[in-house]
Amino acid sequence: MRQSLPGTVAAKGMCLGRARLVQPSRYAVDNRPLGEDEVEAELELLHLALDTARQELRELRTKLHGALAREVNEFIDAHTLLLDDPEMLRGLDDMIRIGHYRAGAALKKQRDRIAAVFEAMDDPYLRSRREDVDQVINRVISALQRQTTAEERKLAARVGEILVADTIAPGDMAHLAGHGLLGVVTSSGSPYSHSAILARSLDLPMLVGTRDALSTIHDDDLILLDAEQGEAIVHPTAQDLSRYRAWQREAALEGRRLAKLANAPSRTRDGAEIKLLANAESSSDVAMARARGADGVGLYRTEFLFLRHKGLPSEEEQFVAYRDLVMGMGGLPVTIRTLDLGADKADAAGIALRGEDNPALGVRGVRLSLRHPAVFTTQIRAILRAACYGPMRVLVPMITQPDEIIAVRTLFKLARQELKQEGVDLPEKLPLGAMIEVPAAAINVRALLEHADFLAIGTNDLAQYVLAADRGNDALENVYNPLNPALLRLICHVISAGRRVGKSVSLCGEIGGDVNFTALLLALGLSEFSMHPSQILQVRDRLGELDRSELRRLAPRLIRAHTHEQVEALLATLDSALPA
Ligand code: PEP
Ligand code: MG
Repeated sequence: MRQSLPGTVAAKGMCLGRARLVQPSRYAVDNRPLGEDEVEAELELLHLALDTARQELRELRTKLHGALAREVNEFIDAHTLLLDDPEMLRGLDDMIRIGHYRAGAALKKQRDRIAAVFEAMDDPYLRSRREDVDQVINRVISALQRQTTAEERKLAARVGEILVADTIAPGDMAHLAGHGLLGVVTSSGSPYSHSAILARSLDLPMLVGTRDALSTIHDDDLILLDAEQGEAIVHPTAQDLSRYRAWQREAALEGRRLAKLANAPSRTRDGAEIKLLANAESSSDVAMARARGADGVGLYRTEFLFLRHKGLPSEEEQFVAYRDLVMGMGGLPVTIRTLDLGADKADAAGIALRGEDNPALGVRGVRLSLRHPAVFTTQIRAILRAACYGPMRVLVPMITQPDEIIAVRTLFKLARQELKQEGVDLPEKLPLGAMIEVPAAAINVRALLEHADFLAIGTNDLAQYVLAADRGNDALENVYNPLNPALLRLICHVISAGRRVGKSVSLCGEIGGDVNFTALLLALGLSEFSMHPSQILQVRDRLGELDRSELRRLAPRLIRAHTHEQVEALLATLDSALPA
């Protein structure tokens, strides 16, 4: 019977496919005790499944590149360690051998036991590691199911599946996307999580917060995932399917129409030229940025290079990566951001501090780089050398106060002198900019402008710090709202301060590529948007519908609004005035 499950749209689109549950705790586990003669075979099944899980992790590590590898190294290391944990393995063997549990039941029991130990821990970081245990054991249970039933094997071999899970790690999603995954439905999660950002860049429709998904959907159910309206329809009717076909026709037409915009100028209806820059980390992002007519790279997150690496990338490795980026953009300007490690981004070499009580408020970004002058100087040297190959600017993350930018500038100066003595070619000048993502930096922006050559507003973090709401926590969906007038006031303040002194201000948070925010950001005075290259054509299209002068007149009312509802209402008046 048809059932519609509401959820929050994290990545737009629609798809039709069969459900594949990856919450094996929901799989029916066979609790019947084993006969004595079945024990050895069951142990073999368990170890085969463990090997499959290890193999999957190894494959995951080799298959992910560039931006997609952002989360991978850390969690793969942790998961691999868990899979080889002698105590856990012994416990499993004993349960089968002595307790006569079947492998699935033993895994489930082991997961519950370990979870109870983690739950009892005082340390919030260690407590949060419980998720890793869940994910590892779920991976093994899932491998076990694939080994045990022929039906499962058939299912796994088939493409065109919609993943239904509680949450999904970005690395797993990227891997599955390469194997025919059509869409994702999760029962928790937020549209600002790294997984949601990734789903948008992979063009995978995704619904989050679909509360009843795991209790209602079964493996192999036919699902129409409507991430336009925000619902997952189980057992869709003929009517639903014809709506889907109509959407497909529309989407194909829309795709062809947008493709024509690849070489069009980025201009508003009243002729204002707007810069559309790309957030790019991989060579495919760079290729897409060029194909879609980006005006340059507005954000290159260098920490991904460190996250992918076992130790620290050498000066030479960094130089090659940065030079390739600059050359790849063929003369268009490139903005390289210095290391933004720390908080949720911990490197394998271990320079990011672990176990901080409040990692998002801890030693991250420039704070971390300045504590490691040798590591930072290696990066600076690589940047300076790569800057000879094309126009480049350098962006510093998590700036809070002027002394940080002054310290970074000094390190650049010293590295320059050193390289000069070594006879290395150097760029004449290299603009140094500050990310504005800490409220103090936004409020005191004029002081920073005395030292920074340009600014880039990072709304993903600025919103989480202004609103004191973790950007990945779905329980705070009603608080983490980028339309909050307090945030808009800060954005407007930063843009105006930059304009007053004639320095460029771009915005590279997720809202920069979201067409629902284009009008608002134009109204606040933004003229440089940086986004994942997959979003460039839609934003360019949206710009053509909007009148910047008219929007600018709305700015005072927008920033005087008291609530996000009032902001929405003001923006709605604009949409109703759009030409048909
Ligand atoms: C931001 O904070 O808005 C940003 C662009 O940086 P990141 O998402 O890497 O923290
Ligand atoms: Mg940030």
